[in-house]
Amino acid sequence: AITEAYCELELARTVKEAGASKFFDKHSTGGVGDKLSLTVLPLAAAAGAKIRKLSGTSLLHCGGTIDKLSSLKGFRHVSDLGALTEESDEFGFSIGRTSPDFCAGDNLTYRVRNMVGAVSSPDLIAASIMSKKIATSPAGLVLDVKVGPGSLFSSESQAIETAQAMLEIARSRELPTRVVLTEMSSPIGRAIGGVAEVREALAFLNLDSSTEDLQILSIALASHLVEMATNCSYAQAEAKVKEVWKRGAAFHLFSKWLRHRGVEEDALQFANIKGHEIRAPFSAWIESIDAKTVGQITSEIVAQGNGNCGDITILHGVGEYVEKGEVIAHLEAAEGGMDQAISSLSSAIRYTDDAPCRRHPIQKILSN
Ligand code: URA
Repeated sequence: AITEAYCELELARTVKEAGASKFFDKHSTGGVGDKLSLTVLPLAAAAGAKIRKLSGTSLLHCGGTIDKLSSLKGFRHVSDLGALTEESDEFGFSIGRTSPDFCAGDNLTYRVRNMVGAVSSPDLIAASIMSKKIATSPAGLVLDVKVGPGSLFSSESQAIETAQAMLEIARSRELPTRVVLTEMSSPIGRAIGGVAEVREALAFLNLDSSTEDLQILSIALASHLVEMATNCSYAQAEAKVKEVWKRGAAFHLFSKWLRHRGVEEDALQFANIKGHEIRAPFSAWIESIDAKTVGQITSEIVAQGNGNCGDITILHGVGEYVEKGEVIAHLEAAEGGMDQAISSLSSAIRYTDDAPCRRHPIQKILSN
């Protein structure tokens, strides 16, 4: 009932504008280090899809796209369908946030859910996401449903239940939707937090650095969008996405969009913040990095305010061999008082004597 109420509210107030059918959308249920909206949207836009999107803020240990963008000095948010449309027409994509006048149901209940411990309910997550999607009336939707300790779902059954609820809402509104079920036990990529995640998204798009999971997920999600938006096969969409990535077109688009929103080059640097180092206690393979603990450390430091940044950068990830004393991670935070966070981060990293294998980031694909 709640899910329906949220969505009906949005449907009732959504103006069916001419040309709305040309916009597509992507949304994630949230994960630690999940900066995929910042890589997928420019990739898909550069490859020919138009995306108009409302994003969410952080929930529990999972960071939200809106908070990542808010961490950039000068970033201006937009909460107006007309402005999002103009921007998508100019850049191929736009990212907005809800307001009391735009997607009101989600805007009013989001933080309350966080406060009263009602974040992980499959129905509330489905309502929150699908009301934001209905508010911008896309012609097709790609949902990244994450499962594992670094997400809102610890079990696959909860993730599938939420995916089915969202597919049902989409079906009843004749909205073609694809769900990509993705693995979330280790953080995605190398950066967790605010500025560091935007920097990592830019570095990936600029071919400066990448991790396998970030690359596989960015290319796959962007290819699903491009396939839906340009009526080509998945293989053709993937070839287009890889081509715009390799030629730097998506990087230029994202950089231009950030400047358009008021972000100058220096907003991507850390100011007056100390980097605390986590070093390997012995030589071994990294077996796992507990994404939930890492996400909790960042969100607790962010919640303390006082200019403590809380961003974490992993220099050696799961499956890599490290020598004793090598730096594995950096925690960007204030000078003192970080002992507890540093000790939690150290114990989130597990080691093994044998080379470990990682699960493929994409587990299943469902659609309506
Ligand atoms: N993303 C959202 O927008 N809402 C949720 O409830 C979870 C992820």
